[in-house]
Amino acid sequence: MLLALCVTPNNPFTLSGTENIMSNHIFGRTTRGTMPTAVKGEGCYLIDANGKRYFDGSGGAAVSCLGHSDPHVRQALHQQIDQLDFAHTGFFTSEPAERLADRLIEKAPAGLDRVYLVSGGSEAVEAAIKLARQYFLEVGEPTRHRVIARRQSYHGNTLGALAAGGNEWRRAQFAPLLVDTTHIAPCFEYRGRQANESQFEYGQRVANELETEILRVGPETVMAFIAEPVVGATAGAVPAVPGYYKRIREICDQYGVLLILDEVMCGMGRTGHLFSIEAEGISADMITIAKGLGAGYQPIGALLASKKIYDAVAAGSGFFQHGHTYLGHPIAAAAANAVLDVIFEQNLLDRVTEQGHKLQAALEQTFGDHPHIGDIRGRGLFRGVELVADRGTKEPFDPSLKLHAKIKANAMNEGLICYPMGGTIDGQRGDHVLLAPPFIISDNQIDEVVSKLDRAIETTLATSGVHLSTH
Ligand code: PLP
Repeated sequence: MLLALCVTPNNPFTLSGTENIMSNHIFGRTTRGTMPTAVKGEGCYLIDANGKRYFDGSGGAAVSCLGHSDPHVRQALHQQIDQLDFAHTGFFTSEPAERLADRLIEKAPAGLDRVYLVSGGSEAVEAAIKLARQYFLEVGEPTRHRVIARRQSYHGNTLGALAAGGNEWRRAQFAPLLVDTTHIAPCFEYRGRQANESQFEYGQRVANELETEILRVGPETVMAFIAEPVVGATAGAVPAVPGYYKRIREICDQYGVLLILDEVMCGMGRTGHLFSIEAEGISADMITIAKGLGAGYQPIGALLASKKIYDAVAAGSGFFQHGHTYLGHPIAAAAANAVLDVIFEQNLLDRVTEQGHKLQAALEQTFGDHPHIGDIRGRGLFRGVELVADRGTKEPFDPSLKLHAKIKANAMNEGLICYPMGGTIDGQRGDHVLLAPPFIISDNQIDEVVSKLDRAIETTLATSGVHLSTH
């Protein structure tokens, strides 16, 4: 049944009738159940049609880094829409797109020189994979076509990006459509480091899997290695150990393999650096960004490519054989420019680091001794909490309990948006909760997020028949 939304000046978002607008024609993510209808965003909160407020503790999926209704971004969008709505990039460039590219490159890691603007993360990854292939054609190495990636990473849902991703359940039913991609181990200290290994030794061991794989398939066939510097959705805010990415960079250089870093989720300030790889002291041949770039105000993503790659295309065919209608959209670029204004004018990168430490401390205080929380990790305002049946053995819960889905529902009841996921360990087993709150989160709001999450987890465990020994 479609219900009427009554919008009046005094009460702009009241519904007549019951709580949800249930459309008969939206093909949603799921055909089951109902969802609240979001009608307004206000700072760190989303408000539904009943007036219930939800703290946006994961920015949806690490998107809304400035929270909702930021006045500067709204004003920039109004100005842009009054000036120029759209000009197809087959005919024109535009001032917001040019300015955005200049600003991103000014801040980007060394060597990155060009920005290809798209509409989201999957498109950015898809463009990176195709550009890698075209690069090797331009430079006369046509046998290079393979992508090597890592298990427990997510790179998007289009076919090329899905093939690169290493999340088994997302890939399984589409496997016949996916190009052959091989996956090495992630750098996932909590799950992978052995008791007799130092952090550094562990990182070198798993980085060296890349060399082994390149040699196995033949270096002359490998075009790129792709990885998320801090793994987001599928593993729950997992940074690499020190030295891992330096070794990855060395191996890529040694075998002439392009390094693509997928910062769609962890980039644009989320970890306290504009580009999360800054923390590792290396650069990449390509970096993909999205989510926080438009901060939810507009759909926008970008592929940053090195001068070496751009020059090879410029000296060769002269065009990247790719393209989408909406790439370089002026309104999307204007939103991203305004988001960057706010990040820098309000010094939000420092704030992310500061509030990130406070969030970690609050999580540790609440869950540090919890019998069913095995690990609390992350960087900046990108944090993950991993659930275990047994802290000693790190044994996960039975996946059929679907704890992650129950935590999500119970958190929504509490008025908290967080991003729980199952399959943390191998695509099947393991549960974690990802938090990625707005950079403007206050100290009190950190307490609000952690206490709501605590209640959601306790309710979930209590109603799932899980015995809680102490807490
Ligand atoms: N890459 C990473 C690391 C992501 O986390 C995501 C989305 O979650 C994507 C790519 C795909 O982005 P989008 O959903 O905007 O297509």
